[in-house]
Amino acid sequence: MNSCTFSDYVSERNRIINEERHHFHGEKLVLNEDESKLNDFIMKVKLEELELSYKDSIQFLPKQHFSIAKNNIEKSKLFNILKKIPKGCSLHCHLLAAVSVDFLIENITYRDNLYGKYINDRFKLKFMKSEAAKEDEWISLKEMRDKDKNFDSWLKTELSLLVDNANSKDTSLESIWTKFKKTFSVVYDMLSYKPVFEEYYYQCLKELHEDNVMFGEFRGTPMPLYDLEGTKYDMEDFFKLLINIEDNFKKDHKKFFGARYIHSIYRGVSLDDLKTELCNILAMKKKFPKLIVGLDFVGFEEEGHSLVNFYEELDKIKNDINFFFHAGETNWFGSTDMNLVDAILMKSKRIGHAFALSRHPVLMDLVLKQDIAIELCPISNQILLLNDDPRNHPAASLLARGFPVVVCNDDPSAWDASGLTYDWYITFMAMTPKTCGLKFLKQLALNSLKYCALDDNDKCDAIEEWKQKWHSFISSMLRTIEK
Ligand SMILES: [Zn+2]
Repeated sequence: MNSCTFSDYVSERNRIINEERHHFHGEKLVLNEDESKLNDFIMKVKLEELELSYKDSIQFLPKQHFSIAKNNIEKSKLFNILKKIPKGCSLHCHLLAAVSVDFLIENITYRDNLYGKYINDRFKLKFMKSEAAKEDEWISLKEMRDKDKNFDSWLKTELSLLVDNANSKDTSLESIWTKFKKTFSVVYDMLSYKPVFEEYYYQCLKELHEDNVMFGEFRGTPMPLYDLEGTKYDMEDFFKLLINIEDNFKKDHKKFFGARYIHSIYRGVSLDDLKTELCNILAMKKKFPKLIVGLDFVGFEEEGHSLVNFYEELDKIKNDINFFFHAGETNWFGSTDMNLVDAILMKSKRIGHAFALSRHPVLMDLVLKQDIAIELCPISNQILLLNDDPRNHPAASLLARGFPVVVCNDDPSAWDASGLTYDWYITFMAMTPKTCGLKFLKQLALNSLKYCALDDNDKCDAIEEWKQKWHSFISSMLRTIEK
């Protein structure tokens, strides 16, 4: 072995560290003078919070179950800076779990004409006229609240996956997914009540806007809207309503850029039903080409069909609609994760979760080559039991190699969150080196714009608007910290 001086050793050591750092997500960006000043400040705040955890690792908030950490995350100085960052776009959020659960309870469940009832052991909520409710033995929420002063706390547990302490959380994937699916069936009829859906979707946009997110893509299925007069609303009415609500929201919030819809099909669908669904959604896409931007399959990935089963049907429509598939949301190896192969081969524009990707080197190369963005949802992965400690999240190694990642919130209602900042905080604190700062955060926002489903013209406009927001953010932060 050739001997070398300590100084040679140190210079080689530094070369390797710098080279590795250069590959990290966002490190190729160059910050201007103002951004660098803000970066210094952010680094100071980040390090202060990390130092506390280095001394006592129990204090590290991303490691704690989100239900338990949430209040302390909100008190974090860094979290409150991240909240102000113009984060660009929210690209992976399910329409039926998109607002804070407190909003549902406080604003929607206190409306008149809301009734509850157990059907096949599942609690359901529905708006109806009192005579019809009486006839079918539904009980008004007012009556339930009068009888039980803890009703709202109980309701919150029905609408979410919150836990009181880390030991009380579910321990099997199957049981947590059963509970998770149940939360959707509790709210489904309640949110399909047209006046409530209008308020609900407006709130979806509002919570993004308040979190400094300018554009949202929602995965959903058309809801069977109803009112108390018995009017029938069809799929077309549903999409018209989405557009109307978005237009109204944009009138009230001039800086909000808009929202789009990704049609989501249950991955347990039969081939016959799939054919019908695809036919329907393509017909709708012709009527609403701007709104409907893509297609996905949803549900517990272990239970559904593999994407390869749908190949023939999907191949026929690949030029008519873009794919944004959930794939590899699994801890298993050589099993459900094979969906990643299909998502890549079928040219999915982004991949939801791709949790299993880092075990597949050939697929990783293909993801880079095809420039497919990974939709990282760290809180979702923790609550749904894929990853307990985000420091060990497989996406950390993707970030280290500079993969295109967008940070998303998946189903914030289910864990009492809203907006993107909680997921940004967890990612930034747990999956980046301690020296990593504003470049990383800026790259996350830029990625969300680059990989969103807007058409080229709208995307250019969105990027221009975001640049202005970014500039104002930097200036206003510098004014605050220089005071
Ligand atoms: Zn999802």
